Amino acid sequence: MDRRRLVPRTDAVLADPRLVEAGGRLGRQVVKAAVAAAQDRARQGEIGPDDVADAAVAALPTRAASLRPVVNATGVLIHTNLGRAPLSAAAVEAMTAAAGPADVEFDLATGARARRGRNAAEALAAAVPAAADVHVVNNNAAALVLVATALATGREILISRGELVEIGDGFRIPDLLASTGARLREVGTTNRTSARDYADAVGPATGFVLKVHPSNFRIEGFTGAAEVPELTGLGVPVVVDIGSGLLAREPLLPAEPDATTMIGSGADLVTASGDKLLGGPQAGLLLGRADLVERCRRHPLARALRVDKLTLAALEATLRGPVPPVSQALHADPAVLVRRAAALARRLAGVGVDARDVPSTAAVGGGGAPGVRLPSAAVSLPERLAVPLRTGDPPVVGRVEHARLLLDLRTVPPEHDGDVERAVLAAAEVRG
Ligand SMILES: *Cc1c(COP(=O)(O)O)cnc(C)c1O
Repeated sequence: MDRRRLVPRTDAVLADPRLVEAGGRLGRQVVKAAVAAAQDRARQGEIGPDDVADAAVAALPTRAASLRPVVNATGVLIHTNLGRAPLSAAAVEAMTAAAGPADVEFDLATGARARRGRNAAEALAAAVPAAADVHVVNNNAAALVLVATALATGREILISRGELVEIGDGFRIPDLLASTGARLREVGTTNRTSARDYADAVGPATGFVLKVHPSNFRIEGFTGAAEVPELTGLGVPVVVDIGSGLLAREPLLPAEPDATTMIGSGADLVTASGDKLLGGPQAGLLLGRADLVERCRRHPLARALRVDKLTLAALEATLRGPVPPVSQALHADPAVLVRRAAALARRLAGVGVDARDVPSTAAVGGGGAPGVRLPSAAVSLPERLAVPLRTGDPPVVGRVEHARLLLDLRTVPPEHDGDVERAVLAAAEVRG
């Protein structure tokens, strides 16, 4: 008999209550595709005609978007490939609340239009009282483009040869600035630049002096750089790209610049990222002199760089709310990390997994503080578990060192230890 004639019709399968429900959650196209694939399998004889609905249900994705939440056990606090800063629960909740219609540009009391992003801007201004004004754009690169466009198109930006930084993925700050029509005027040398070098280069064509924090590399040896206080008397604005987004001094990262200190030492404008050490959503922060911030905010380009309401909500909650995960990881007590690693390794070893707890060294990552080593603890596993852990559910990403897979707990929130344990058991094919 022709097997194909027994394969149930599409509308009959789609009427299965589980698939109706999934259609509402995931979209009809996704469900139809799963049904078509299951019908194909039945035509091939891989499954029986009565199993088509079950097979379609089993093949459905769990979410409408395929981006998957991952456990970061790399020990790299700000992992660019894993989406940089994980948001706090408060920030996630704020984004969910803002997802529908929200008063993003609307004053509920008067019914009139209100300034977009005022709540996030107020929170940022409150966090950095030294800044006379603030503005938020899409990311730090956008903040730099906006400043360069508003203050230096057709003019010169003075920058040290030691600060011509490649941010990552082939993007370079000098190229970004030049793309605005500003001319870069390099001063000093790779290893040493003095205040005199800047002073000699300042002229009528100077738009501003730019200091860029070398956030992802270090040069050592015979080095020297002019600091902000030495550059404030040149008669042109001093703009400082601090990179990481620290708003105030962080004692654990003494070499990392922060917005408050920079403005206090005379910077006219500071730019920073929202999703590095600040621990918030992708955003670019502009802080400093009111007239300069206003010129940036009023520039037509500002409209193309503005952030959406979800970012505004998450940024405000990050600034006003509980300590975000990046700061928690940075400040985690090493003794507690050692205890967590020991407990996890003991439970895994107890069911036959080749697991042991080992000391580890975590890092801030591309987001800042190069060379800073944070004492940590890890669970050491056979290297062959790396792939099944990465492709498991949830995916767990560790790092391989000396032919062992290390799961560094500094970047794993304590409440995820159970997930890590279950993931390892599944990867090692041990019944939990
Ligand atoms: C990360 C970084 C940037 C780029 O920031 P984005 O927010 O990713 O655009 C620019 N400058 C410095 C110094 C950085 O560290």
